[in-house]
Amino acid sequence: MLKYDLHIHTVASGHAHNTLLEYINQAKGLKMKAIGISEHGPSMDGAAINEVYFRVLDRLPEIVHGIRILRGIEANIIDAKGSIDISEKIIGKLDYIMASLHSGTPYKERGKKMNTEATIKAIRSGKIDILTHPFFTKDFPMDVEKIFKEACLHNVMLEINLSYVKERKIQPDTFENLKKMISTVKKYKKKVIVGSDAHNIWELADDSGLEKIMDKIGLKENMIINNYPKELFAQLEIE
Ligand SMILES: [Zn+2]
Ligand SMILES: [Zn+2]
Repeated sequence: MLKYDLHIHTVASGHAHNTLLEYINQAKGLKMKAIGISEHGPSMDGAAINEVYFRVLDRLPEIVHGIRILRGIEANIIDAKGSIDISEKIIGKLDYIMASLHSGTPYKERGKKMNTEATIKAIRSGKIDILTHPFFTKDFPMDVEKIFKEACLHNVMLEINLSYVKERKIQPDTFENLKKMISTVKKYKKKVIVGSDAHNIWELADDSGLEKIMDKIGLKENMIINNYPKELFAQLEIE
């Protein structure tokens, strides 16, 4: 089980099934240290959320029932320039910014070259801390090797998304892409971040699926930044 899980969706997203308090109680039961709430950016179809939601996140207590609450977002890359769907003002208020291409957003599939360019521009923008599920290319084909390299060069963490290593989300090259991702991260002496992408409390911090594939993808415990909270917080520039 992860002690730090920064990829969580609550009922506020419009398509997840538990409240923040339920996540906190679950996290307490799992003896976790911190959870990060990271709702999808407001441009996603069906999002029951707008900028105001993110603006008032700082009114939440920092610690509840012994669990540190981090304020994040899983923003959407919305155009060929790599723009994301949240303003600079909000970016400055949040603890961390995650982003990627998602279906049901203003970004429509533009082919491998354009998808890669848009993602690289988002990486180079300096606005993003974490690129979510970058090894998943089914909806948006991408040159993953280029993206992994750019992320490492620009200090953007690459995510091993636990939801996308589950059977229903596996694509033919999932493990191949993960292997490439890990070898690139290793080459640049970086670490990967692991996130559950929980849409309910039972998915929170559950990394049992990862344990089974670690050898296969060449991942070692010492390459996972979740195991080094000080380093993780330093990378996110939070205390
Ligand atoms: Zn996502
Ligand atoms: Zn997500």
